[in-house]
Amino acid sequence: MTSPLPLFDSHLHTPLCGHATGTPREYAQAALDAGLAGICFTDHMPMPAWYDAPWRMRQGQLAEYVDRVREVQADYSGRLEVRLGLEADFHPGTERFVERVLSAHEWDYVIGSVHYLGAWGFDNPEFVAEYEDRDLAGLYRDYYALVEGAARTGLFDSVGHLDLPKKFGHRDPESSAALHALDVVAESGLALDFNTAGWRKPASEAYPSPELTRAAAERHIPFVLGSDAHTPQEVGFRFTDALKQIQEAGGRVVTYAGRVRHA
Ligand SMILES: [Zn+2]
Ligand SMILES: [Zn+2]
Repeated sequence: MTSPLPLFDSHLHTPLCGHATGTPREYAQAALDAGLAGICFTDHMPMPAWYDAPWRMRQGQLAEYVDRVREVQADYSGRLEVRLGLEADFHPGTERFVERVLSAHEWDYVIGSVHYLGAWGFDNPEFVAEYEDRDLAGLYRDYYALVEGAARTGLFDSVGHLDLPKKFGHRDPESSAALHALDVVAESGLALDFNTAGWRKPASEAYPSPELTRAAAERHIPFVLGSDAHTPQEVGFRFTDALKQIQEAGGRVVTYAGRVRHA
């Protein structure tokens, strides 16, 4: 299928994170086969050793990650634009570490994601039972306060998978915390990762939801398309549906190169 628009998939993982399969070259080939104009690898960045260690590359693997992406970039030159990014974590107290990693290489695009509430990796299927012990409204308020913190650091280009706690079907019973977070995202000049992985999860909805897509578009927050692929088969997943949802909301799609936004 050839897309009528020059689309980028700007949220892709590699096996260096320990929970993805396929080589970076296979992701690039899948993108080319799907008719995409480009991709941006955004593997989970190294974090301090005590944080989420099994789910990301170690600090000593960062150069290898950069080298592998650069190789694919050279191989696909003129056929597919290949960019180098990271999915960074926002976890209060780690900002200085993150800043050091971000200054170590020339990144095209950095997503800022919240995957933890305190010590709880709330999007990890292993720990889903914890939702039963939580007050959902309070959980979402705490989560969106962290999203606001992420937006205010100035370290990131976009917010990853905005309404992620809905992943296993635990929906936000309120909307005020989400809308307030969108105000902060808009003020801080960030984009949103329009993340189609939610359509592969029990939530059966992309991140963000149609309602939050509209609220973001009203605030002139642009969207960066991403499949959050952890296998090459997921590259470009449901991008036609993603575009439809964004266009119906009056939103626009952008990409990043050299950490600069492009229409
Ligand atoms: Zn993520
Ligand atoms: Zn991801």
